[in-house]
Amino acid sequence: MSLVFQPSANIARMKESATLAVAAKARALKAAGQSIIDLGAGEPDFDTPLFIREAAVKALADGATRYTATEGILPLREAVAADANRYVQGLAPVAANEVVVSNGSKQSLYNACVCCFGPGDEVLVPTPSWTSYYEMLELARATAVPVYGDAANSLKVTADQLAAAATPRTKGLMLNSPSNPTGAVYSREELTAILALAAERNWWVIADEIYMRIAYDGPAASVLSLAPTRENLIVINGVAKAYAMTGWRIGWSIAPVALTKAMTAFQSHTTSNPAAVSQYAALAALSRVEESDAAVEHMVQEFHRRRDAVLRALTPYPTVRYVHPAGAFYLYVNVAGFEGAADAGGAFAARVLERENVAVVPGSAFLTPDWIRMSYATTEAIAVEGVTRIARCLVG
Ligand code: GLU
Repeated sequence: MSLVFQPSANIARMKESATLAVAAKARALKAAGQSIIDLGAGEPDFDTPLFIREAAVKALADGATRYTATEGILPLREAVAADANRYVQGLAPVAANEVVVSNGSKQSLYNACVCCFGPGDEVLVPTPSWTSYYEMLELARATAVPVYGDAANSLKVTADQLAAAATPRTKGLMLNSPSNPTGAVYSREELTAILALAAERNWWVIADEIYMRIAYDGPAASVLSLAPTRENLIVINGVAKAYAMTGWRIGWSIAPVALTKAMTAFQSHTTSNPAAVSQYAALAALSRVEESDAAVEHMVQEFHRRRDAVLRALTPYPTVRYVHPAGAFYLYVNVAGFEGAADAGGAFAARVLERENVAVVPGSAFLTPDWIRMSYATTEAIAVEGVTRIARCLVG
């Protein structure tokens, strides 16, 4: 027998996650003894707050080692609803039966894409956006339609730009504020206009709010405080970024009950429940509000200091153009024309790694090849050294 693997039609066009690929490459170079400044994947460098880890240890001792309900344990879904209700304005409060807990916001996003969209459906993706949105929509056999934001508007899209990109096949849009990869934050007015358009057109809105609490120039608004209705709204969040819990793999969706049921059924065939012990850790993060608010505030203050330090480090390089980073922990730097390459970001990422030992993500991962993304979720000294090397490599 000679069976040679050929990718199925499902994955024929799929590319590996560029953010995770950069992280893997940086790890491999480090393991080989190179001293690498890894500004690739976006991952808080803090440890998970102690009270959360202790809650997980206690849960294990108490026997949290078995299957749970596919959609997650009820106390966690209630805590997710209570957390969301801190932001809800003018709409019915979120209830636990609208929540599905998953193995990370990535899984919830994928579940939502598969359950809402299929062949023939077009989904508007403000671009640049996180690399996995495009791939998830393709895996759902829908068509991702990039809608490009203007550099003068921090690469954010407007309701008018979305309306202009729509066709009769448009079924929904992805929203992400603060944005990965740019760190741009949509204003309340911008979000209100986009949500009104989506409601008027009967589009699904998949709002990825994973960076919502990480904002520096004032709070980033939740769609829950602005949407005219929740009938077309899928809010995605998780504990990874705000609570420094990337490895625990806990995310969730908040969606209308019928869709929530479909997403639960879909998850029941793919992964079942997320790890029981992680659910109890997330329960501590969400329900011990005073302790977790203090921990989140501390981490966000740290990110804020690093953001400011990174921007200060760029002042000697006034020709370096970047998107003003108002949230998340990314700086999106324009490298158009670098070495005359069509994929300037790819050429720059390769060069800055080889010459300066700095790992960054090429903008092609976010469908904007003239840019590169650096993460400053690392110590201030490393972030400053890294951005200085980037600027040096760029301006020569
Ligand atoms: N979302 C983070 C990033 O963009 C983590 C890696 C990933 O899942 O893409 O770097």
